[in-house]
Amino acid sequence: MPEYVTFSRNVFIPVTNVCRNACAYCGFRAKSREDAYITSVERFMALIRSVKGRATEALFTSGERPELADARFSDWLRRITGFSSAVEYTKALCKLAIKEGLLPHCNLGILSYEELEELRTFNASMGLMLETTADVEAHRHSPGKAPELRLEMIANAGELKIPFTTGLLIGIGEKPEDRINALEQLKSLYDEYRHIQEVIIQPFVPKPHTPMCDVKMPSLELMKDVVRIARTILPDEIAIQVPPNLVPPKELIELGASDLGGISEKTIDYINPESPWPGEAGLREAIAPFVLRERLPIYPEYIKRGWYSDEIRPLIERYADDEGLRKCK
Ligand code: SF4
Repeated sequence: MPEYVTFSRNVFIPVTNVCRNACAYCGFRAKSREDAYITSVERFMALIRSVKGRATEALFTSGERPELADARFSDWLRRITGFSSAVEYTKALCKLAIKEGLLPHCNLGILSYEELEELRTFNASMGLMLETTADVEAHRHSPGKAPELRLEMIANAGELKIPFTTGLLIGIGEKPEDRINALEQLKSLYDEYRHIQEVIIQPFVPKPHTPMCDVKMPSLELMKDVVRIARTILPDEIAIQVPPNLVPPKELIELGASDLGGISEKTIDYINPESPWPGEAGLREAIAPFVLRERLPIYPEYIKRGWYSDEIRPLIERYADDEGLRKCK
């Protein structure tokens, strides 16, 4: 069982909900032009200034390769932001976040080696959910969910020494052996590159008006099973993260989970908007008697190894204590 349980205080920035994929469980992706949005610089600045002095992490998420979803996306982006590529725009937002005292963590879907390299300098860590290595019906219309593409990107992040977050999505049609396979593949990537700081075990949650709206969410028993198996397959250096707004965390911590992920005090969970995060006091209560500690979006081990750029360094020095966790405020 862990000595303590960590979380990161973040602000959640959905850069755009335009996505080239159409996962059958997704409630985030824009279904039409009317639903689509791009977060403007003005809205972004208002968001990050609202957490000044509190949060350390700017979590950027986005639909995958929005330019491929809609041929008019680049023109629209240029009109609103002056940039014609979502990756370029996000990079500019990362630079602004750093100026405002926040450590970026980008999770933008599939990125090329070159794009990862470009974003690396301005990110404390990055992420991509593997979700599953199985060929599931839920991904029938999602070219970016091909497991080999995702494994390749996770390997590229390893080559670039990017502290990395990935995870499994449980209950999307995968079989027990698929979960074992996905965890084993992540273990091999870690054995080769030593870059995976955490693996999220995330339950699928049905969303209204989606093809999987009537599918049941995985039970707590199944989540416990997966955490137990993950803890046996993954090396101890990789934290297992569980989202406390989707599952009661304490029993999962007893089985080896040790992180609760990013908690945003000013924004909703855009992926699961129906499930508000507990506040810090609520988290402490939910995990007692385990002790809650705040971390940065880069884990202590990667701070120790110096896996960050000179752009990020002043913020790490400002926020990290001797153990690599957040200094007491
Ligand atoms: S890739 Fe993400 S945003 Fe796009 S459809 Fe799938 S779950 Fe939704």
